[in-house]
Amino acid sequence: MPLALYNTATRRKEDFRPIDPSNVRMYVCGPTVYSYAHIGNARPVIVFDLLFRVLREIYGAEHVTYARNITDVDDKIIAAAAASGETIREVTERTAVQYDKDMAAVGALVPTLTPRATEHIGDMIAMIEDLIAKGHAYAAEGHVLFAVASMADYGALSGRNLDDMIAGARVEVAPYKQAPADFVLWKPAKDGEPGWDSPWGRGRPGWHIECSAMAEKHLGETFDIHGGGVDLIFPHHENERAQSLCAHDGRPFVNVWMHNAFLDLGGEKMSKSLGNIETVHALLERFPGEALRYAMLSAQYREPLEWNDERVREAKGALDRFYGALRAVTDVDPAYPDEVPVMASLSDDLNTPQAQAVLHELATELNKAKTLPAKAAAKGALLASGEVLGLLEQDPEAWFRWRPAGAGGLDDAEVERLIAARIAARAERNFAEADRLRKELTDAGIALEDGPNGTIWRRAEV
Ligand code: AMP
Ligand code: ZN
Repeated sequence: MPLALYNTATRRKEDFRPIDPSNVRMYVCGPTVYSYAHIGNARPVIVFDLLFRVLREIYGAEHVTYARNITDVDDKIIAAAAASGETIREVTERTAVQYDKDMAAVGALVPTLTPRATEHIGDMIAMIEDLIAKGHAYAAEGHVLFAVASMADYGALSGRNLDDMIAGARVEVAPYKQAPADFVLWKPAKDGEPGWDSPWGRGRPGWHIECSAMAEKHLGETFDIHGGGVDLIFPHHENERAQSLCAHDGRPFVNVWMHNAFLDLGGEKMSKSLGNIETVHALLERFPGEALRYAMLSAQYREPLEWNDERVREAKGALDRFYGALRAVTDVDPAYPDEVPVMASLSDDLNTPQAQAVLHELATELNKAKTLPAKAAAKGALLASGEVLGLLEQDPEAWFRWRPAGAGGLDDAEVERLIAARIAARAERNFAEADRLRKELTDAGIALEDGPNGTIWRRAEV
């Protein structure tokens, strides 16, 4: 079945046709690295990781290139370095390492490419020079600005006209601008700020030009999919589009523009400026990363998603059920299906709530399966579906042993030791001691299940 994706540019769902099926190319705007990522920032990461997995499933893992940039020069980074007394490089390195850890914990694959802005300054300068030469940009007082009047359909992506934009007042009025909506490609660096020599003096790039230059360098002038959160449609993606189309003499830039809706907390967009954030780092102390991912996927990506603990607990309950079904068939070799069952739902513009319902059905089938071939097929169907969703990829034992950070009680080795002692006590028919050991384990929040293959255990609810 064809993959249908909603395209922000045309405002409808379209069947996806790659430019080159042997190299499907996607660019997603990545983090500005100055502080912990919040769970709202993880929404585009998880959504586009899912799309990356779906594309790999359809076109083959070797035939998909996914670039997610790192913005490592920005006013917020400069401010964070000034506040902590670190160098800019220390702030960006520390934050990028933390970001990678957090995103790995929520099951995101490492993108094929993670280009950094500071490593592409030359490409940005070259693109800016090209835009000036073609009459789309001008230098003034150490700045270079893009002249929006030079582009006939500026505003087409976001559906805004110039008057709306100016009325929206998100544009900065400055004496060196020819028109209020003109935006910065290059700006002077103040003393003590990071800066690079350029034909316009020492300075640094604007945010939008970073993505245009890095996308061109790594994915070519025209590529398949460009993603990010809805807040990026205007001005960031509108401006990227303007720069790239004008630099490339109108040749197409992006075929499908995709945008995830907001993740909200308390009914409002989770954002640092509102102060209603929960960092991924802090959530991972309380919940397994896989439960955060499942909770994130419990709403389709274009629907707003209200974040709360209850949603994560439900997610954990669903995963307990799936891992429980898998744990009962650890000795069965899975038989993988030709068609992965969740692909039908995911091919409909990533309908993840429906895909999760399919996981439930597959777990029911697995629980009901009586014969070995039936168990093998049901296990294979559940695991293959989980893999495309970035779920159910860990050992069920490891899933059931997860515990919150700082939780007291027994560690894994202590639990194993007490279980072994209990088995020994029973072998010696010392049932009083065996019962005492069981109680010790239960009191520590460890649930035991004696089965045909010995005793298995799990940590009880958080
Ligand atoms: P920022 O660090 O604010 O530049 O955001 C990085 C990415 O996260 C962008 O794609 C944003 O659109 C996205 N984003 C930020 N906040 C939220 C949110 N509350 N819900 C969904 N996406 C968000
Ligand atoms: Zn971008």
